[in-house]
Amino acid sequence: MFSRFPRAFPPCTTGSSRRSFLQWVLLLLAGCGRRERLTCPGAHGTPPQGIIYTVTGPIQANDLGPALTHEHVVTDFLGAEKAPGPRYDPELAFQQILPHLHALRARGVQALFECTPQYIGRDVRLLRRLAQHSGLRIITNTGYYGAVGCRYLPRHAFEETADQLAKRWLQEWLQSIEGTSIRPGFIKLGTDRGPLSPLHEKLLRAAARVHLQSGLTICAHTADGVAAFDQIRILHAEGVHADAFVWAHAQNGSDEERVRAARLGAWISLDGYNLRAGTPEHYVRMLLHLKQAGCWHRVLVSHDDGWAVEGEQLRQAVIKPFHNGNPVPYTAVCTRLQPDLLAAGVTARELDQLLRTNPARAFAIRVRAL
Ligand SMILES: [Zn+2]
Repeated sequence: MFSRFPRAFPPCTTGSSRRSFLQWVLLLLAGCGRRERLTCPGAHGTPPQGIIYTVTGPIQANDLGPALTHEHVVTDFLGAEKAPGPRYDPELAFQQILPHLHALRARGVQALFECTPQYIGRDVRLLRRLAQHSGLRIITNTGYYGAVGCRYLPRHAFEETADQLAKRWLQEWLQSIEGTSIRPGFIKLGTDRGPLSPLHEKLLRAAARVHLQSGLTICAHTADGVAAFDQIRILHAEGVHADAFVWAHAQNGSDEERVRAARLGAWISLDGYNLRAGTPEHYVRMLLHLKQAGCWHRVLVSHDDGWAVEGEQLRQAVIKPFHNGNPVPYTAVCTRLQPDLLAAGVTARELDQLLRTNPARAFAIRVRAL
């Protein structure tokens, strides 16, 4: 049923289909220090190919529409396995969140990648109901959140091998999530600062093996640039091209690291956009730097907004918006970032690429092997 597509984008430098590890290291070391402009992988103007699995079924990637690629609906950091299911009233949560999704659609956004993994609040039934009533395409995930010292990992993640973890995640892809008909549209991981621990490396290896079977893109919460390059290296060792990797929270890295990762083929996700003093200007500056480096077509933007379950109660808990600088969830990219970028000389066509073409290409389901 799921075709195995060839790697969609050629390597930066050569036409060879298989790059040796030494070549890869040399490319990694080359980075921004080179004076000549390196071209980031991915031809400009290539229509997105492949499919994307939303919580209401598959769509052609080309039909995705403008998308926010790193948001949350509800997160719950009570701790892995402490709560068997959602601690909030699903009806209240639905009523509270739905108007924001209608508003998002009214602004022209058509898709939202929901980056909450299992064990920190993923609720695919709520996502599907919200998608059905709002018309917004919502994409959920498989994978585990190993950030914050692995405290949100289930017990079996410490004991099982990468292959055993991969089997669990593949099962969600092949047989759907939690007895629903909903499939994941990408793999979501969480890691800490680099160098990565052996446990985080195991999560990456498991994700790589799932990608090679499913074509699902790997999006990893990443604390710094060292961790990002560790992840790209581990994926390479598993035979997975960096094009299948989204460096989530790339705003935690430096300009030089972002350009270097983009030139290796990774997706650069600047996903903490908010209206705190200084942040809008900082994002415009980061984005213009990537544009000037020829990497505009490797960049994603989003807010990392959503709601969180508050308190320790197992029942009747309430959800509240994150207090991360956006008083109204999901809107600041439309209301502030887009006009700021236009004022800074970014064209309407480039904005369309940033918000529509890039997300579709980043998350299109295709095996991207070396
Ligand atoms: Zn997030």
